[in-house]
Amino acid sequence: MIPFVDLFQKYFMQENEFNYNFFEKAEFFSGKWNGNMTDNEKALNILENVYKDAGTALKFNSVFELLVSVILSAQCTDVRVNKVTSELFKKYNTPKAIADMDIAELEDYIKSCGLYKNKAKNIKAMANALLESFEGNVPSTREELMSLPGVGRKTANVMLSVGFGKPAFAVDTHVFRVANRIGLADGKTPDDVEKQVTSIVPEEKWGNAHHWLIHHGRRICHAQNPDCENCPVRICCKFYAEKNKN
Ligand code: SF4
Repeated sequence: MIPFVDLFQKYFMQENEFNYNFFEKAEFFSGKWNGNMTDNEKALNILENVYKDAGTALKFNSVFELLVSVILSAQCTDVRVNKVTSELFKKYNTPKAIADMDIAELEDYIKSCGLYKNKAKNIKAMANALLESFEGNVPSTREELMSLPGVGRKTANVMLSVGFGKPAFAVDTHVFRVANRIGLADGKTPDDVEKQVTSIVPEEKWGNAHHWLIHHGRRICHAQNPDCENCPVRICCKFYAEKNKN
């Protein structure tokens, strides 16, 4: 088993993205757990410390831009979405501008994001719905958000959390996989996982917990070949325990 100091040197001291200081984190691992903590509490505690500064990588200047970006991000990387929107939003960054856009031009802007025909149709319909039903404003309740074309529960939760600072826990493919593997949830659907994780994570941390799990899924707990031997959560991970039981 690789010691934690090596794991942190490998993953966090050499990466500038979050500017981790291992020796500050070491105190957390050595002294702050009490004997009554469950594995899930330990796992959340580790994830919170490792990914403390994690947030959305999407770039936006308004909740409308965020909504367009989140719709574009389905099966597409945030880097790609930012590249596309950095051009699109120069000319078209309001519901009226998008609603008035020629759909072929919109498709042309977003085609590198994949599923572009469907996304273009949804983005235009969403912009029209905002103009028709919400005076051109992005609504801030889950029910209203989910009434918009192209907006499902996951997108609505991202909007509530990232766009409006409300408690919401969005379950994407990384969150679904990582939460189930660690044992934070045992759910067959994203709704199950959302219910189970929000029952054990304090409400004020729901939005952050979404980012911890996404970052962990992207960096270590990959869909294929999770890097368990180099994972700081392995000491309290259900998947790892089952994989290694004799
Ligand atoms: S130990 Fe393996 S399965 Fe568990 S969280 Fe880490 S990488 Fe994922």
